[in-house]
Amino acid sequence: MNGNYQSNTHVFYSPTKVSIGLNAASQAAHEARQFGSTKVLIVTDPGVVQAGLIKPVELSFRTENVSYVLYDGVEPEPPSRIIDRGAEIFKSEGCDLVLGLGGGSSLDVAKGISIMAANKGKILDYCGVDRVSQKGAPLILMPTTAGTGSEVTRVLVLTDEAQNTKNVVFTPYALASAAIIDPLLTFSMPPAVTADTGMDALVHAIETYVSMSATVFSDILAERAIALIAENLPVAWAKGSNTRARSNMSLAATLAGMAFGSGGLGAVHALAYPLGTEYHITHGRTNAIMLPHVMRYNLSGNPVKYARIADLMGKDIEGYAPLEAAELAVEAVEDLLDAVSVSFRIKDYGIPAADLPKLVAGGMKQARLFVPNPRDLNEDDVISIYKEAY
Ligand code: NAD
Repeated sequence: MNGNYQSNTHVFYSPTKVSIGLNAASQAAHEARQFGSTKVLIVTDPGVVQAGLIKPVELSFRTENVSYVLYDGVEPEPPSRIIDRGAEIFKSEGCDLVLGLGGGSSLDVAKGISIMAANKGKILDYCGVDRVSQKGAPLILMPTTAGTGSEVTRVLVLTDEAQNTKNVVFTPYALASAAIIDPLLTFSMPPAVTADTGMDALVHAIETYVSMSATVFSDILAERAIALIAENLPVAWAKGSNTRARSNMSLAATLAGMAFGSGGLGAVHALAYPLGTEYHITHGRTNAIMLPHVMRYNLSGNPVKYARIADLMGKDIEGYAPLEAAELAVEAVEDLLDAVSVSFRIKDYGIPAADLPKLVAGGMKQARLFVPNPRDLNEDDVISIYKEAY
């Protein structure tokens, strides 16, 4: 392979079937039948139910006579107990397929329940990479946000309440058997949720694009996602019923999910995590806050790719040296954050400056994510980045 990549072997992970389009939700029962299902566990959260997003799925099941049980107990940044409880319901109700409907929280809980349908113990026993031995129950994932890309990734993120930290289960068995992406399910997102989740997708695309683990596959997918998000996020934020903007955001989030599923993440995620666990700021918002600051720090590690990001986000980089053009990428991200009313200053979230050491300690706990980051960083660098972000 071309010498610009760190590894000679490029691997691409994705669900076997990905359907995307307006009204795709009406295919839910048909997909369940493909797996021979007779009783489905629908996994979601109360906000999704309240937004009426379960209706097209229920209609599809009633039309095709597929029975289902509803588990709407998902909480944001889901604690592991929500997964273990869902797995108990799956078994006691005699279900044979899991359908996740919602944002990344609901989709990740659905993944965990699918895994625990076929594996012993608790989901926390399987945190880490490739620790799940048995393939789980068939899994259909239907996102209602345009952000996490969980519908196409092989990871699930959970909160370990005892350790007050987030943890991940990385396994090919977390890949959906089928992903159904219907942009109509995202129209009801309020502007702030649109902004936070859309920025999450941008972070996935940018982090994986500049990552040391980038692959040919992740580059192609990330480039398209970055351009789509820069153009469509402000429109989707301003006008939630704009079909073109919503459809492009759903597509971008899925492409970005495929990209980071086959590339890597980096220091934005590492330094964002403690803002979520300590202050309960949403996952997307925490990533959005840290993105421009980590980018500015990282520029010298991959100026050519940051310059390309500036170009993809609509900046004119003609005649600039790579590092100067790369700086325009940070400007483009800050412009986008301003356009969707997202502050990227930690102090704007009511966090006292005295708490910075707590953030540093939390960020250092995620040091595994520094490995694929394009610039090395140690504890002093982490302190400087948080100070700059404050
Ligand atoms: P979320 O699932 O926590 O949902 C946020 C809120 O939005 C909820 O209150 C929900 O009810 C509401 N909501 C969702 N869709 C809506 C709609 N269409 N209309 C109105 N309200 C709606 O948010 P998220 O950002 O999608 O997911 C965050 C979680 O995903 C975090 O736990 C994060 O760690 C995880 N994540 C997972 C992956 C992965 O690949 N597995 C990747 C990134 C993030």
